[in-house]
Amino acid sequence: MKDCNCIFCKIADGEIPSATIYEDEDFRVILDLGPATRGHALLIPKDHYPDLFELEDEAAAKILVRAKRIAARMKKALGADGFNLVQNNGEAAGQTVFHFHMHLIPRYREDHAGILWEPQKTTAEELEEVKTLIQGYQEDNG
Ligand code: 5GP
Ligand code: ZN
Repeated sequence: MKDCNCIFCKIADGEIPSATIYEDEDFRVILDLGPATRGHALLIPKDHYPDLFELEDEAAAKILVRAKRIAARMKKALGADGFNLVQNNGEAAGQTVFHFHMHLIPRYREDHAGILWEPQKTTAEELEEVKTLIQGYQEDNG
């Protein structure tokens, strides 16, 4: 399952060189060219899935296990104080490369990486409305 016009397919296959910190038959993990912090990496499946919603369950299960192990190694190797896993889906959510990938972002005290959000206000009514919408929508096995 490859997309011949996809830059992350080419990077994952090794057709385009990258700073690779891990590789196996399913994944390549590379350093991001526009890092949020020192060591920011991308976990890229070798198969082409545009986003989370297209990801096969089997791949999804492997991704979190791999992300956990590599994050633990990176945190120790780089002396990070914390760690964010970030995964964007759709332009509105900040996705710019439409081949599923997980950001592995080491965090350091005072690094000022703008990854967290400003909490908005809500109400009990709105929480109830949103809860009912989601619970009442049952299309598949989610
Ligand atoms: P997204 O915005 O889709 O969640 O993340 C895409 C990420 O890929 C960005 O952080 C961007 O810096 C990184 N990126 C885009 N093109 C390349 C590339 O050719 N090489 C590497 N190493 N990173 C890339
Ligand atoms: Zn691809």
